[in-house]
Amino acid sequence: MTNPILSDADIDLAAMHGKAVAIIGYGNQGRAQALNLRDSGITVHIGLRPGSSREALARDDGFDPQPMADAAAAGDIVMLLVPDEVQADLWNGTLAAAVRKGATIGFAHGLTIHYKLIAPAPDLDIILVAPKGPGKALRAEYATGRGILGLIAVAQDASGTARATALAYAGAIGCGRAGILESSFQQETEADLFNEQGVLWGVIPELIEAGFDTLVEAGFAPEIAYFECLTEVKLLGDLVYERGIAGMREAISNTAEFGAAQGSGRIVTEAARAEMKRILGEVQDGSFVRKLVADARKGYPTLTASRARAAAHPIEAVGQRMRAIRDKS
Ligand code: NAD
Ligand code: MG
Repeated sequence: MTNPILSDADIDLAAMHGKAVAIIGYGNQGRAQALNLRDSGITVHIGLRPGSSREALARDDGFDPQPMADAAAAGDIVMLLVPDEVQADLWNGTLAAAVRKGATIGFAHGLTIHYKLIAPAPDLDIILVAPKGPGKALRAEYATGRGILGLIAVAQDASGTARATALAYAGAIGCGRAGILESSFQQETEADLFNEQGVLWGVIPELIEAGFDTLVEAGFAPEIAYFECLTEVKLLGDLVYERGIAGMREAISNTAEFGAAQGSGRIVTEAARAEMKRILGEVQDGSFVRKLVADARKGYPTLTASRARAAAHPIEAVGQRMRAIRDKS
């Protein structure tokens, strides 16, 4: 299944004209989207919890933050940009009763809607505008006249114009400059959760630690192990981003390329691929999301323990030293 990639030329920003956006939560995505929207000429209301640590920053940025219910009531489009695992409690407790009839409710990730953690009223439009990158990059690219790739989708189209709203919103935060991929809540959510666990944040850092441990246990200097197994991941990331995997191979030495072929299939074995399928299964059957929400409700014991485990790994001490030297020079 291939989808067309849309750009600014396909977008009618008129779908946003005269519409106010309520940004709920001023974190990574909230801040970046609020600033980009304002620079695109759109009225933005910021909704924060009482006593939010982000209030001073929002004021510094020239906004006048309000309680979440007030901001939500002022928005034609209400973007839920608080952490996924708290969105349902916030919606049911505060936002559902506050949003206007016929408003558009927007998400930057499809989790809450795809797993039916909330059931918004049928008069509301439900859209997804998911920038494929962190808020910092979304803002920095916009500020230099570029953008980052975005995904859009519609889950509920009460007005008949939800898709046009999603496209215009994606354009207003700058995604049309890089490309907008039309997708679905299901595809965006499941692929994103799968990648986080099965490739990106779950596996690559563990490979780095395992490689580091192997060298250090064999008597290598931790500094050498750190440089080889961790620092050079940046080179790989840049190369595959610029040129793809086959193109990356052209940029490395024959020795590295020959070695790459020898390593292939020995770590990512058939058993590892089968485990990847199990990870996808746990994403698709909802069991992962049930665990995530349960952990949040208990005050994040699992997340806290995994942070402590990562911080205690010996690669962190050498990393701190190496980064301090790098950042001084
Ligand atoms: P974040 O962790 O930066 O937090 C956002 C805001 O929510 C902050 O202002 C925080 O103070 C507030 N908040 C935290 N807990 C709260 C609670 N219990 N009640 C009310 N407010 C609370 O969030 P984020 O990383 O910007 O993620 C927001 C959404 O954007 C999520 O759906 C996420 O999946 C999506 N997203 C994030 C990124 C990213 O760059 N981090 C990229 C794409 C999509
Ligand atoms: Mg992701």
